[in-house]
Amino acid sequence: MTALSDILAARIAEHGPITLADFMETALTDPTHGYYTTRDPLGAAGDFITAPEISQMFGELVGLSLAQAWIDQGQPSAFVLAELGPGRGTLMADIVRATAQVAGFNDAAHIHLVETSPALRDEQATRFPDAQVTWHDDVSALPDLPLFLVANEFFDALPIRQFKRDDTGWREVMIGVRSAALTPELSTATDVAELAHRLGDTKTGDIVELCPALPAITTEIASRIAQRGGAALIIDYGDWRSLGDTLQAMKNHAPADPFATAGEADITAHVDFEAIAMSASPAKFTRLTPQGIFLERLGITQRAQALATKLSGAALEAHVAAHRRLTHPAEMGSLFKVIGLYPDGSPPPAGLEP
Ligand code: SAH
Repeated sequence: MTALSDILAARIAEHGPITLADFMETALTDPTHGYYTTRDPLGAAGDFITAPEISQMFGELVGLSLAQAWIDQGQPSAFVLAELGPGRGTLMADIVRATAQVAGFNDAAHIHLVETSPALRDEQATRFPDAQVTWHDDVSALPDLPLFLVANEFFDALPIRQFKRDDTGWREVMIGVRSAALTPELSTATDVAELAHRLGDTKTGDIVELCPALPAITTEIASRIAQRGGAALIIDYGDWRSLGDTLQAMKNHAPADPFATAGEADITAHVDFEAIAMSASPAKFTRLTPQGIFLERLGITQRAQALATKLSGAALEAHVAAHRRLTHPAEMGSLFKVIGLYPDGSPPPAGLEP
């Protein structure tokens, strides 16, 4: 048991069981012991690796898709280039480097990063030395300008609640304490208005997940895009319509018990892209597209070949493996998906055409 698991167990013993969302929020963002608060979790020495850390090609192609959307919308002369949960800042640094070739784009861009972790803000600052960027805790604080935004592996870190279907309705998965250890248990029957539409397509014993923070964040982004112009690329692992227990903890690149390792393991859940689509009004949303197809459409094969001409030996092998890892269906190519938000009357972002 970690220090934070013990603190939570004592709190629950005194005040009663907590929701999975409360558990996840404390485990990830507690101001003293939270996983993201206290460390840089990414990369080979960390607990997990993300697409921009695998290859520069990912950020380059995301950047060019955003730049194409900016061109399609008449090149607004001042806009917000935003990222949610920028990790080490690698994705945004690659976007800015690739879009330097797009005349006028970087001059018009104001870079805004939404990041709650002080440790990761420090890391991001090293990528943007001359105070080029502004940080926020929340999307609602972004300036009121056209918004071109990317979120890669951000929504999967947002806390979820879980509900188990019984014969008549739902019981919530709560975190209690048994033999001094954090242990999941079921609540008594509970009414969940947000899950009324799921009574028809679930059966007794099924688990469905809800991400309470997702609708407000999505609608905030969508409203700005609908009113001011812009586009959002939301990339994550998950699928259309939540079904099943997808909570996962990772420590040193291996699965861990989330309840025994609170504060020392990354905890994520699959993103329910249908929930994003349901909150996308007044913007339009694209078809949900597998990451491999999105990157292929944006030209990752040609880009990989161009980079390969300068490489040999182990570096070439690593480059070929990275291309495969990002795109192959057996790796990240189909588990990870992309959905785009864009204004009515504009084309969908490049790579996400119907
Ligand atoms: N996008 C990066 C990092 C993904 S890890 C990449 O692709 O490499 C998740 C990121 O989201 C981290 O930067 C984490 O600190 C941040 N994060 C998690 N919960 C958050 C929240 N509620 N608000 C803002 N940032 C959050």
